Amino acid sequence: STDTSGALVRAEIDVAALRANAAALAERLAPARLKCVVKANAYGHGIDIVAPALFAAGWRDFCVATVSEALHLRELLGDDVAITAWLYGPTTDLDAAVTAGIELGVSTVDSLDRLRDAARRTNSTARLHLKVDTGLGRNGLAPADWKRALDKLRGLDAGPESDEADASAVAPDLEIVGIMSHYAVADEPERVETAQQTHVFDSAYRELTAVLDETQGRLGESGGLEVHIANSPAALTLSPLPGTSARVGLSLYGLSPLDDQNSQDLGLVPVMRLVSQVVNLKDVPSGHGASYGFTFTAAADTRFALVPGGYGDGLARSASNRAEVSIRGTRYPVIGRIAMDQMIVEVGAGEVSIGDEVVIFGPDGPSAAEWGTWADTINYEIVTRISERVDRVEV
Ligand code: PLP
Repeated sequence: STDTSGALVRAEIDVAALRANAAALAERLAPARLKCVVKANAYGHGIDIVAPALFAAGWRDFCVATVSEALHLRELLGDDVAITAWLYGPTTDLDAAVTAGIELGVSTVDSLDRLRDAARRTNSTARLHLKVDTGLGRNGLAPADWKRALDKLRGLDAGPESDEADASAVAPDLEIVGIMSHYAVADEPERVETAQQTHVFDSAYRELTAVLDETQGRLGESGGLEVHIANSPAALTLSPLPGTSARVGLSLYGLSPLDDQNSQDLGLVPVMRLVSQVVNLKDVPSGHGASYGFTFTAAADTRFALVPGGYGDGLARSASNRAEVSIRGTRYPVIGRIAMDQMIVEVGAGEVSIGDEVVIFGPDGPSAAEWGTWADTINYEIVTRISERVDRVEV
């Protein structure tokens, strides 16, 4: 049959697997609730496929990093979902996010002011999750800023706007709906820093609830606060799980964040199957080179298969001469440098024909984690970097 899409490399997105992973994870997390992390184009899987599929299965709580991702998701799913975003800068327009009801993480004292201003300008309420840096050192309020943020919420801030910073002036514009943080080493269960982060988070939680109680619910109800620090590795290893919900990304896509357990060990099914096809076959004599730089030379007479798929599709060039692919259930090595659009696979005397499907990674081929090893990176990056040229197809 003729393929009219023109795309030679295809990412098949198994929505049944996605739904099964979400259900399995939710059961594991209970009573904490699942927040589906769909940032970075749903970890490369295609937000336009993933988010509606999760929505159709009943999931109503989503997280992304940026405001533009959040606004896209609001368009895609409508008003009946909670969307949290936490990454924006001093010039990001927050008005649209606030009016669209996006819940925003707050990682600087300044953004608290900016969000209040945005809420006033747009005559709406900014729904906020205070983000505490419990040690990661990335985003989140560091201890001194955390204290300043709480002071500001109490109306005790002594900054330039102190005249209007009393709690009653702040209250109608801001609602504190959650407190959040992020772990640094939850994928290494033997490390002590995770418990230390949880401890800092617990203290911050107590301080925030005290402020909410002091301000008599004008900034939100302490009892209804959403508390979330866990990511996939934390959700899979910590018991009991801290928080009232967990922001789960990688394992939703059926991939393991842990070195010593694979998808199957965790009862998860990889959602993405990245496939290509054999488009050329050639018999080459011993000594024949393969691809740029001749970093591979045939040790004996052999056969090369040409497979569309290269760094222009998001495959890692660093996996050259290390990666493998699967054709008709047999693994073959990727030889020579992976180029922008294509790679060479040594199939030797194997049963391979032009037009055969090539599984680059997926449940019946190498795993994204193996590609991670071959490319000196992690499965997170392997799937997320799959580029726009690759067709995402729901299966
Ligand atoms: N929360 C935050 C702040 C993140 O940056 C991420 C992703 O990196 C997640 C949650 C989800 O993490 P994971 O994919 O390990 O579940």
